[in-house]
Amino acid sequence: MKIVIAGAGMGGMVAAEKLAKLSFEVVVFEQSPSLDEMRYDWHDDVNPSVFRRLGIEMPVGSFKKKSWTFISPHGAVVREFRQDEATADYSVERRPLNRILYDRAVAAGVKFVFGAKVQKPVVEKGSVVGVIVDGREERADLVVDSLGADSPVRKDMPQEFGISQYKENEIFVAYRAFYEKNADAPAPKYTNKVYLKHMGEQGISWVIQDNDPALVNVLVGRLGSLSSYDLERALEDLRKTNPTIGEKVVRGGEMCVIPVRYPSTRMVANGYAAVGDSAFMTIPMLGSGIASGMLAGQLLAETVGENLSRGVKKEDLFKVSRLWRYQVKVYREFGAVHCAVDVLKRGVLNFPDAMLDWLLGSEVLTNEEVGCLAAGKILRVGLKEAIRKINVADYGHFRTLIKVNNLLQKSLFAYRFARNIPRNYDSSICHTWEVNMRRYYKR
Ligand SMILES: Cc1cc2nc3c(=O)[nH]c(=O)nc-3n(C[C@H](O)[C@H](O)[C@H](O)COP(=O)(O)OP(=O)(O)OC[C@H]3O[C@@H](n4cnc5c(N)ncnc54)[C@H](O)[C@@H]3O)c2cc1C
Repeated sequence: MKIVIAGAGMGGMVAAEKLAKLSFEVVVFEQSPSLDEMRYDWHDDVNPSVFRRLGIEMPVGSFKKKSWTFISPHGAVVREFRQDEATADYSVERRPLNRILYDRAVAAGVKFVFGAKVQKPVVEKGSVVGVIVDGREERADLVVDSLGADSPVRKDMPQEFGISQYKENEIFVAYRAFYEKNADAPAPKYTNKVYLKHMGEQGISWVIQDNDPALVNVLVGRLGSLSSYDLERALEDLRKTNPTIGEKVVRGGEMCVIPVRYPSTRMVANGYAAVGDSAFMTIPMLGSGIASGMLAGQLLAETVGENLSRGVKKEDLFKVSRLWRYQVKVYREFGAVHCAVDVLKRGVLNFPDAMLDWLLGSEVLTNEEVGCLAAGKILRVGLKEAIRKINVADYGHFRTLIKVNNLLQKSLFAYRFARNIPRNYDSSICHTWEVNMRRYYKR
């Protein structure tokens, strides 16, 4: 049986390797002209646990992230967060990681076709049966959509499959650049700064002095849109307090889109499974897309492998009822946590600036809680800690505490609801779960 992996995203390459090991014929179609010309020539944060879980080596040169320093909307408050050394993320170069995933896939028998543009799905009788690549039809028993945020396959799916598109406020538009370091500027006090609601806008910016002493890593990201005027204003503002940022862009310097769609979306259809950004797995302002995409590739292959060993007939192997189990695994392993953190992060971005200033500056939030927000972990507050918070907050901030408490409750509810994803596929039960999940998010 043949599997087409549309796009050499990291999750797609993991899925390709693992599915080839299950004896499927696997072909990857990637639009970049070659492996070394794939997008995003820089390093990103990845939790090392994913490499252990998948048995994949971390690229040489990866380095442990330093602690974060959060800066409140108008720069008034600075809050340092000390990372737990044992669980800290690593900064991982993308291209060497691509090379590792590619070599593993090729060794497992996967065929790669570079310079191949996937245009749309081929759908027959309620099933995806292939894709159109550069005008020709490539038929497959399963299409794995690893085409990223703007997947043309996802965009062209029939409405009845329930594979929805993202809306305007469901993207995070980010400019990322590594600037030459201004050698004359004094050494910065904080080397890993994140500006929350930078300039009062919905989003973040960061200025990071990584391990390369010659470069400054800068990001300006906003929910919804980022005009060139707003980008220039933001860069100008960052330069005022970060004189190390030079003029010359050495790496990156591109505008990118990260999906920050509500996570409760359909990832499977007959003959179709999405991994990575096309599967709506990224959450706002949290470096998680690489790890969750790779893990999703593994979970998809695991699901197919389990169905094979249960003796599921070949013609049923890639039906939505069988692939649903993959979506369940994703929600159980990390999707539900992402839902909870997504609620928290969107909520925090909606807080008035003054409230965020106060929260960051006061002793109400513990270091551990700031860490949960930064690392994408669920935040739970026990009774003793709640009482401490009430004591710390003066009467004037009581309403803020109630708002924070409501947000925490909402986040935990989202987690529980998401984890309660129907275990088995039943179209009306699954649809009801999805509709309720979306309704809940919008409240
Ligand atoms: C500025 C920025 C910073 C980020 N920081 C982090 C971070 O610190 N940590 C983290 O985990 N994640 C980070 N992410 C998110 C991360 O990039 C994604 O979540 C991750 O790459 C997984 O995406 P993907 O593999 O699904 O898609 P992509 O990485 O977008 O890969 C899709 C692949 O499909 C190919 N493709 C697209 N269209 C076609 C087509 N029509 N035909 C053929 N091929 C096609 C593309 O060329 C690409 O190779 C960041 C993203 C950005 C933009």
